[in-house]
Amino acid sequence: MFLLRKPILALSGSSAVRGAVSSAPITRSVVDRFIPGETTAEVVAAVVALRAKGLQVTLDHLGEDTTDRATADATVAAYLELIEALTTAGQVAGAEVSVKLSAVGQALTASPDIPGGGNAYALAGARKIADAAYAAGARMNLDIEDHTTIDQTLEVLFELRSTHPDIGIAIQAMLLRTPKDLAELTGPGSRVRLVKGAYNEPDSVAFTDPDQIDLAYVRAMKYLMYGKGYPMIGSHDPRMVAIAAKLASDSGRTPDRWEHQMLYGIRPEEQERLVKDGKTMRVYVPYGADWYGYFTRRLAERPANLLFFLRSLATKG
Ligand SMILES: Cc1cc2nc3c(=O)[nH]c(=O)nc-3n(C[C@H](O)[C@H](O)[C@H](O)COP(=O)(O)OP(=O)(O)OC[C@H]3O[C@@H](n4cnc5c(N)ncnc54)[C@H](O)[C@@H]3O)c2cc1C
Repeated sequence: MFLLRKPILALSGSSAVRGAVSSAPITRSVVDRFIPGETTAEVVAAVVALRAKGLQVTLDHLGEDTTDRATADATVAAYLELIEALTTAGQVAGAEVSVKLSAVGQALTASPDIPGGGNAYALAGARKIADAAYAAGARMNLDIEDHTTIDQTLEVLFELRSTHPDIGIAIQAMLLRTPKDLAELTGPGSRVRLVKGAYNEPDSVAFTDPDQIDLAYVRAMKYLMYGKGYPMIGSHDPRMVAIAAKLASDSGRTPDRWEHQMLYGIRPEEQERLVKDGKTMRVYVPYGADWYGYFTRRLAERPANLLFFLRSLATKG
């Protein structure tokens, strides 16, 4: 079934498929399993419920590959509204926001309105979010997108870290460049979220065999656990969860010096079990109307998610 991952990711880029999936009446109820709502109020309510169970949160305002300035600006505004709403709800301390630079303008082309080009525009937007987050007592993490964007994303990260050294970054174990990137990211205090990688990458830049990706993930975990930074283990894979615990124990890391991360709606019982086991567990909570890209990546990475969706279409759509 892993063989379906690439075709699904490739198909999801077609506008016809996007139209069909987005307009299928049943899609919404399947989407709800992965996304607690579209509005700020709905995501804040989800935060309250997760926190009541001892779970930490990182919040993603959905959106990516933004091609116009107004959408990029609206995304920045949505994060600022979110930080204010978390503050009002008494939920801001210890919360994190996750930001995709393509959502705040990284892909915009230079023009009189955007003199420095997309990356400078994204940096300016991300800086506004970071300033608001850290002033309020929250923190920020940059998501990582397809391999063509990584040099620019790391450039933005290092700029942002000059004023907010705590800002974290996601790194994809599947990419061949990752050991070199990790070498620059394991300094004191550096927060790194290790994930397998969700994008459709060619084998010239990435491992595409699942066993090789797993081995690369374990090597990277080991590097992070024995490094000086703060490892964030972003995986639902029971083997990776178990190996993380072993590496943390072998490297003398207490639960306040690393954390697990999982996506909202995926293995929720396991998330709660880890909390009961004394681990730090952070849930990545996406919200907003632009759920298509996020949703299709979830369908592509797990046969059960895809089957659940197809069965719903067949029975009710
Ligand atoms: C917090 C977080 C943030 C992320 N941020 C990014 C990012 O910035 N950039 C990026 O490219 N990717 C990101 N990802 C996605 C990531 O790259 C993977 O695509 C995704 O996590 C799937 O890989 P996996 O390690 O969970 O395990 P997989 O290889 O997908 O699954 C391995 C095993 O895990 C178990 N499992 C997985 N899903 C389920 C389920 N639904 N129910 C029960 N068991 C399950 C099964 O035993 C399965 O065989 C993020 C993931 C997380 C958790």
